Amino acid sequence: MNKLVLYNTLSRTKEEFKPIEDGRVGMYACGPTVYNYAHIGNLRTYIFEDVLKKTFRLFGYDVRHVMNITDVGHLTGDGDDGEDKMGKAAREKNKSVREIADFYTSAFMNDIGELNIDKADVICKASEHIPEMIDLIRRIDENGHAYVSDGNVYFSIDTISDYGKLACLRLDDLQSGKRVGIDSAKRNPNDFALWFTKSKFQNQAMKWDSPWGVGYPGWHIECSAMSMKYLGEHFDVHCGGVDAIPVHHTNEIAQSEAATGRKWVNYWLHGEFLLSEKGKMSKSSGEFTTLASLKQAGISPIAYRYFCLQSHYRKQLQFSLDALKGCQTSLNALHDRMDRIIESASRCQTLSEEETGALNALKDEFAGYLGDDISTTRAVSLLNKVISNPSLSDLVKMRFAEYADSVLSLDLLAKRERVSDDIPQDVRLLAEERLKAKASKDFAAADDLRDKIRASGYSIKDVPGGYELLKN
Ligand code: AMP
Ligand code: ZN
Repeated sequence: MNKLVLYNTLSRTKEEFKPIEDGRVGMYACGPTVYNYAHIGNLRTYIFEDVLKKTFRLFGYDVRHVMNITDVGHLTGDGDDGEDKMGKAAREKNKSVREIADFYTSAFMNDIGELNIDKADVICKASEHIPEMIDLIRRIDENGHAYVSDGNVYFSIDTISDYGKLACLRLDDLQSGKRVGIDSAKRNPNDFALWFTKSKFQNQAMKWDSPWGVGYPGWHIECSAMSMKYLGEHFDVHCGGVDAIPVHHTNEIAQSEAATGRKWVNYWLHGEFLLSEKGKMSKSSGEFTTLASLKQAGISPIAYRYFCLQSHYRKQLQFSLDALKGCQTSLNALHDRMDRIIESASRCQTLSEEETGALNALKDEFAGYLGDDISTTRAVSLLNKVISNPSLSDLVKMRFAEYADSVLSLDLLAKRERVSDDIPQDVRLLAEERLKAKASKDFAAADDLRDKIRASGYSIKDVPGGYELLKN
């Protein structure tokens, strides 16, 4: 069996993965702040986490995956400054915070479904875990790591000796680099809020009672409280995007270890940014690409997944529509090849001894790439080599694709409909969406999609088990 080696941000080295409990992995991933659509940069991080989770499974682990939904407490500035993101969106869109949260949570779930990202075993909302957060703040306070100032409860980073260990931060640099006067209530400018009662946001929509008065939690405390509730006070893996390292994850570690007095998480994994032409793609800039806009440009969600998997998660990835179009073309070709392989492989049922040996060696090579810090780049390239290798039988190729797709999730074995090669991708996508709408009995949406297909110059005919697309 191959080793599973992962790059741990905490040690800045690749380490062999050793679970706390034999055969099991507890994994926490920071989820979305649901004040807007996820952009494809955010989705790159969730694709990476999905591959990580499926790699654990490939290596025989039983994974418990927990993800939060941030629907309270995340301010526009990481240093407890700015406005509550949820409140701001609600005000701008003239909706309640709950309506905003529900709408964007369901849009997010839809996006991850289309990207073949497995749902977490536990999806927990910050707003439903306020008592757990209050309990944790109380423990931090009892251990002497918190103070109340100007009505708010702050974490005192000077009370712990290893603040900033994840990001390799030096406290001297931090203090001299920070603007003075951001929050005069803080003893150290890098202290962070655990609970707000009195703040700049008098109109905060969601408020709860607490031992420190009516208010709402700081952003970081939710991840500590919910991960401990569902995974225990010491667990295996915590992940997110690299932007979380210097503040959010640094503060999560400080407060969790201050509360329990012991090490919190063993392995920290971080996905690098997706870059737009202007640098890091971000929601706050207002200019970002969503999965829906990619679909409008004729790029399927799985082609985006394929695009992400071709590069390593710890490398920045430059987004370009041209590159994605190229990916869509090669994914279509891969799917067409797979369809022919499946058709031919279904005629032969058993593998010879020689074929079994070849298949096992290929599986081993594939697992070896993923086991080497999730090298999807090499795993995808092996898949392409196998599928186009004329000396391998179609049955070996199909069995290998089955194995590879348990992690890559590129719909290699999905039942696809027959469409002729000259049908444009956007029309194919409309047809796929119509198929899904029909399957979920949303006939109004299905009719609407048929009209759109017609308006694009094609007609769709229902045939047993699927559809056929024809040019008008
Ligand atoms: P948010 O919804 O803003 O809390 O972010 C959700 C996740 O996406 C977090 O793990 C972020 O670290 C990550 N993220 C934010 N921007 C990018 C980006 N441009 N590329 C990749 N991941 C990102
Ligand atoms: Zn978090």
